[in-house]
Amino acid sequence: MRYHEVIVVGGGLAGLRAAVEIATEFDTAIISQVPPVRSHSGAAQGGVNAPMGNNPAGKEDSVEKHTYDTIKGSDFLADQKSVEMMISEAAPSIYELEHWGCPFSRTPEGKIAQRPFGGAGFPRTCFAADKTGLYMLHTLWERSVALNVRTYEELFVTDIVFEKDEIVGLIALNMVTGDFEPFMAEAVIFGTGGAGQVYGRSTNALICSGTGQAMAYRRGVPLKDMEFIQFHPTSLFGTNILMTEGARGEGGHLIDNQGERFMSKYAPKAMELGPRDIVARAIQTEINEGRGFEGGYVHLDLRHLGREKILERLPGIRDIAMNFAGVDPILDPIPIQPGQHYTMGGIDNDVNGATKIKGFYAAGECACVSVHGANRLGGNSLLETVVMGKLSGRHAKEYVKQKTDRKKGESSVISAIEEQERVREELLTRNGEENHAAIRDEMKALMIENVGIFREGKTMQAALDKILELKGQYQNIKIMNKGRKYNIDYIRAYELGGMLELAHVIALGAIKREESRGSHYRFDFPKRDDKKFLKHTLATITKDGPKISYSDVDVSMYEPVERKY
Ligand SMILES: Cc1cc2nc3c(=O)[nH]c(=O)nc-3n(C[C@H](O)[C@H](O)[C@H](O)COP(=O)(O)OP(=O)(O)OC[C@H]3O[C@@H](n4cnc5c(N)ncnc54)[C@H](O)[C@@H]3O)c2cc1C
Repeated sequence: MRYHEVIVVGGGLAGLRAAVEIATEFDTAIISQVPPVRSHSGAAQGGVNAPMGNNPAGKEDSVEKHTYDTIKGSDFLADQKSVEMMISEAAPSIYELEHWGCPFSRTPEGKIAQRPFGGAGFPRTCFAADKTGLYMLHTLWERSVALNVRTYEELFVTDIVFEKDEIVGLIALNMVTGDFEPFMAEAVIFGTGGAGQVYGRSTNALICSGTGQAMAYRRGVPLKDMEFIQFHPTSLFGTNILMTEGARGEGGHLIDNQGERFMSKYAPKAMELGPRDIVARAIQTEINEGRGFEGGYVHLDLRHLGREKILERLPGIRDIAMNFAGVDPILDPIPIQPGQHYTMGGIDNDVNGATKIKGFYAAGECACVSVHGANRLGGNSLLETVVMGKLSGRHAKEYVKQKTDRKKGESSVISAIEEQERVREELLTRNGEENHAAIRDEMKALMIENVGIFREGKTMQAALDKILELKGQYQNIKIMNKGRKYNIDYIRAYELGGMLELAHVIALGAIKREESRGSHYRFDFPKRDDKKFLKHTLATITKDGPKISYSDVDVSMYEPVERKY
């Protein structure tokens, strides 16, 4: 049986940063369903926030101001001390990446360049052109190689194994051979990314299917604040590929079919650089009220930035717009619409990354500390990956150091393998009439239409009823490929089981939250209700579905006020 002192699941930024932290002292492995540098973090474009004051307009920036902007952006649902902790680590974490070779874009005097982003009082988003995530990912990957982190690629983790309240290992499906492989470990860190694929019109890759969240949930770890789903204002109309917020940070305008910069009605001061929840709702309102273009989009206009700036700062955006919409942003406006983008909620953990199971940690988009609350600010997610990766790695090290009873739980891991074999056999031999791809499509359409940017009790309940029906249909699917080796048909079907659980949790949490806050906007409860809902939602699995409970939000630093931009 394979054994590593610490196993990190996920080779994205959170997973790599955690592994790099641990590997200086412990035998560390990464398991990832794709090669780490193909992780979705590589798609991140616009940048990563830190209050460094390198932009002349950001000289007055500070940890305190960045912390407050983040809390205000979160519509006061983020835990305030956790946010402060993350922001305090921001600049050191960026310099660390710089020293490890990350090629950030530069100011004329050679400092790391910073651009404005939404909801931020100062330009504090460090960037590497419009491919920031890719450069950060390669930097950390190189670092992990230098530290001899063992990487297992194309292994798909299907279960975690614990005894009593302590992690002892996990099970992974070797996608190439089709064998389930057992792993023992003293600590496991999930950096498994978000669950964007639960929704239609998503900017997320196909692998962002929330398997990590579903796995933890099935094993009794609560999911926190899952109803808070971020819709990015500017995804390319038709394909929903992201058009980075950096495009507006560099000065891009949003324009309706009358040629108006309509953000003046919604965020007169911040305009296009309001927080994402407000800008996404503004765009969708323009479209719904007939001021969009045929099919349902508005324009992101970069033409006034000029050729040179577009080529230097936004070359990837130009390529994508040309290749996927046939539009050259130097000459024409880009057709955009809001798209599902980010999962604010996730595996319930604390500022050390620790969950309720000893030795089981989570970091990055799969987790909910909570530092984003009801609405994440652009640029704060890449920050969270590196800071929480580091902190969860640090804490996991401390945990392993104090452990006296090592390498236990072998028999539990072996019986977990048998259980996974049984699950696969049962799924592969279902001989029903339902097509799992069609169920997935229906779930995605239901979620984007009814549990999307605008919500209402009645339609959400109808969507939830339908999700429950889809769960029933899922029991009656037929997987066409019955093979074992590289059976993507099986993996997609397996993932769908977890995604339906997540859709259930999201919809139920949204129905029960009778208020509007951040990304969760309800026509029937249009106001924020701090008396009843200044609370985190916790969803715990039971045999009758998710049980919803609530926990307190840390508001020890700033009193919640009405947000104005
Ligand atoms: C298009 C786009 C642009 C973005 N731009 C920005 C930006 O400019 N700034 C910003 O702050 N944020 C941005 N974000 C958000 C940010 O990129 C993500 O939140 C962040 O990169 C997530 O990193 P992660 O390490 O948590 O997960 P990921 O990078 O998604 O990595 C998840 C890893 O887990 C592995 N994995 C998952 N499940 C399993 C399993 N069952 N078994 C084995 N391996 C598994 C995957 O293989 C992968 O290696 C953007 C998001 C998108 C979609």
